[in-house]
Amino acid sequence: MRVVLILLWGLLLAMVFLALLPRRRPENRRRGVPDELVKDPVCQAYILRSRAVVREDNGVLRHFCGPECARQFAHSRSGSRG
Ligand SMILES: [Zn+2]
Repeated sequence: MRVVLILLWGLLLAMVFLALLPRRRPENRRRGVPDELVKDPVCQAYILRSRAVVREDNGVLRHFCGPECARQFAHSRSGSRG
């Protein structure tokens, strides 16, 4: 009987743990995201976050007006390496 109790506790703890986990979803989700202006670090243009091209750079999300700027940014960051 103790095994059943332990299993139940484990399940409960797992559920609580999952519920408490911060939901970090990639930027695929379009719904419910408030539109705000973000700055393109390449051409300095302001674009809506929902329309921006998003790239991750060392754990920081960068927003670009288009794939061309994203490419330029990645190119300038990578430098001569790789
Ligand atoms: Zn741009």
